[in-house]
Amino acid sequence: MKTSDRSTTSTPPKRAVLVGGGHAMLPTLQAAHHWTDAGHEVTLINPGRFLYYSGMVPEYLGGVYREPDVRIDLQALCTAAGVRFVDAPATALDAAGKRVRADAQWHAYDVAALDVGATPPGRPAAAIPTKPLHGLKALDASLRAVLHDPHVRRHLLIVGAGAAGVELSLNLSARLHRAGKASQLKLTIVDQADRVLPRFPVGASRYVKRLLLQRGVRLHLEAEVDALTPENGAVRAVLSSDAPDLVVDDVVWATGAAAPALLRDSGLPCTNDGFVHVDEHLQVDGHPSLFAAGDCAKVDGYADLARIGVHAVKQGPVLRDNIAQALHSRTDSALRKFKPYTIAPLILSTGTPHGLWIAGPLWLAATPMLRLKHYIDRSWIQSYQGPVHAPSRHDLWDARAPLPKPPFSVVKDAYTTL
Ligand SMILES: Cc1cc2nc3c(=O)[nH]c(=O)nc-3n(C[C@H](O)[C@H](O)[C@H](O)COP(=O)(O)OP(=O)(O)OC[C@H]3O[C@@H](n4cnc5c(N)ncnc54)[C@H](O)[C@@H]3O)c2cc1C
Repeated sequence: MKTSDRSTTSTPPKRAVLVGGGHAMLPTLQAAHHWTDAGHEVTLINPGRFLYYSGMVPEYLGGVYREPDVRIDLQALCTAAGVRFVDAPATALDAAGKRVRADAQWHAYDVAALDVGATPPGRPAAAIPTKPLHGLKALDASLRAVLHDPHVRRHLLIVGAGAAGVELSLNLSARLHRAGKASQLKLTIVDQADRVLPRFPVGASRYVKRLLLQRGVRLHLEAEVDALTPENGAVRAVLSSDAPDLVVDDVVWATGAAAPALLRDSGLPCTNDGFVHVDEHLQVDGHPSLFAAGDCAKVDGYADLARIGVHAVKQGPVLRDNIAQALHSRTDSALRKFKPYTIAPLILSTGTPHGLWIAGPLWLAATPMLRLKHYIDRSWIQSYQGPVHAPSRHDLWDARAPLPKPPFSVVKDAYTTL
């Protein structure tokens, strides 16, 4: 039996405050009904009702999925579990006083957990952030205009040619090509590295570059965006290289992961770059009743762990079980330890029937990889939102055809990685 399933009637009621409804928090939200049934008070603080699933958002922008397919209704999960939902960001955390500030109030806790994600570093206010993922919905209006009005011309700049920037570019460019609208949306990528996907095998990088160039995507490599300034309703991007400035309509900032200011501003023990230090139980150093998981946390002993959803998802059940133990006032020896996957392969969708699978130095572009990605993504999200709703609109990849019931023990916590 899972620790979260055990009855808690023998312990006095406690208050758990969950800060951030990210990928790592989902198992906790799903288990919370055990605690509220037993009289504990559980609160989720999160700005916005929906969590967008990173594995599927690029294909949502690529027209493969509809919006309801790629998001999880946090408020509905809270309602089902008897959890109070505060639709606001946490603005301060007082670990000594055991309270979190949100919506102009302090929320006292006996046990708390942080899963507030990260933000792309160096983002100017004029750029759309890739994290949190719901920010990308800001592209909807431009896309709709291009797809539905033959007179509209837009220029989109994506800053960052890592996995997120590349996967977004591949999906957007493919969608425009399929719709015969490629000439209406100019797409430019800027990155300081000398190749796209700089952290991945050179062969995969060349493969992706070829696809992007075939679709007319412009690449400015070994260049940085120094500034974004407004210009007649558009945005001027000043580049650090000799390249001339770009005047664009939208800018997406996909530069990786920086720590949210909340962590350091709240006086929590943080790394030099501002991520909160946790031990292998996901307990914040020096604060046994405070846990943290996902992109915002740095786990002791795993300094090089990438900030990707696959690790956040793997931390989810550990976080859930350890919160359950803390609600029971059990000792540290009862806590579960997080151990990351040794190799976390990734599958990128490319806007073609071929998924790009990458594991360490190995890579492969093949149709079965895309089908595997769709299967894993959809099985995972279904466990939090019910079946993906509509039948496929793109038979080509059979992306949304009905799935057989997933073997949950295998796929429930599985995930594709960036
Ligand atoms: C385009 C794109 C595609 C990606 N694809 C993949 C992929 O295929 N595989 C993979 O492994 N990784 C992928 N990633 C990375 C992945 O998205 C992140 O690693 C993952 O989302 C981290 O999850 P998390 O649990 O840390 O928090 P998140 O899922 O980022 O959620 C954080 C939550 O905290 C909330 N929040 C923020 N601030 C506050 C606050 N002050 N108070 C309360 N709540 C707050 C946010 O609203 C959000 O709901 C992708 C990233 C991008 C940008």
